[in-house]
Amino acid sequence: MRKYIASIGLCLIAVTACAPSAPPVANDLPQVTLSSADLSREARLVFGNLSTPTTTTANVFGAYAGGCVAGAVQLAETGPTWQAMRLSRNRNWAHPDTVTFVQDLSTRMAAATSWSGLYIGDMSQPRGGPMLSGHASHQSGLDADIWLLPARNLNLSQAARENLSSISMQAQRGAAVNENWTEEHATLIRLAASDPRVSRIFVFPAAKVWMCENETGDRSYLRKIRPWFGHHYHIHVRLNCPLGASDCEAQDAPPVGDGCADAQAWVNNILNPPPPDPDAPDPAPRRALRLGDLPAQCQAISQL
Ligand SMILES: [Zn+2]
Repeated sequence: MRKYIASIGLCLIAVTACAPSAPPVANDLPQVTLSSADLSREARLVFGNLSTPTTTTANVFGAYAGGCVAGAVQLAETGPTWQAMRLSRNRNWAHPDTVTFVQDLSTRMAAATSWSGLYIGDMSQPRGGPMLSGHASHQSGLDADIWLLPARNLNLSQAARENLSSISMQAQRGAAVNENWTEEHATLIRLAASDPRVSRIFVFPAAKVWMCENETGDRSYLRKIRPWFGHHYHIHVRLNCPLGASDCEAQDAPPVGDGCADAQAWVNNILNPPPPDPDAPDPAPRRALRLGDLPAQCQAISQL
């Protein structure tokens, strides 16, 4: 609390340099001490089998790719401008701020385009954490995958939402957009990236290059669009740490500038791959996260 009061003081002195601040989220998690056997358990086997959220205050602990979420809420399966897909995965959970963001984005998308709203892919598990399949991130309740298949029918049955597939937007292994890509896809990414709640968006490189080439107005949002492997069936939206979530580990801001030259370089490398570096070390094998690798609060959350 003293830190919070001190930061208010600094804000009064230098209003323009002041980042948003908030009192820390109340900590109502019980202290739990795990045995060494529990600490060495693979975290995905634990979190992947927890089917309900905690009833404690909403909070985020740790990093996007090494953390968890307390007090998560479930995105309703169907809303006025969205449907959650692949319900059997039980991954339509997130920090309440993320659920609100997704709902807001779908409302804006329905208003701005011919789409009826959005099809929402994986968010997080009920308590976040590593998953049994897919996704290194999506652990802290702040990541959401949004399908690039235009949502026109918001009355899809549960079975349809298991079987329907999104569509790819890429050609030339990500170096170009294909005939499925439209200005409305760019609108989706611009709306998301322009939202101050968003930290970054991952999408295949040609989509970013297309937006760089076609943006005639404010270009500041382009900085948040990060070219990445895959991500041509969906975009991945990553939110900033919630206000007051002092144990949430933020990611460094994207490099200064619009990042358009980097995206173009990525495309160029796809088209003309540089020769492999003979001195490059073998990638270190990645060990599965164990409960002991996660923040202590996540260890507690895994036991509630
Ligand atoms: Zn994702």
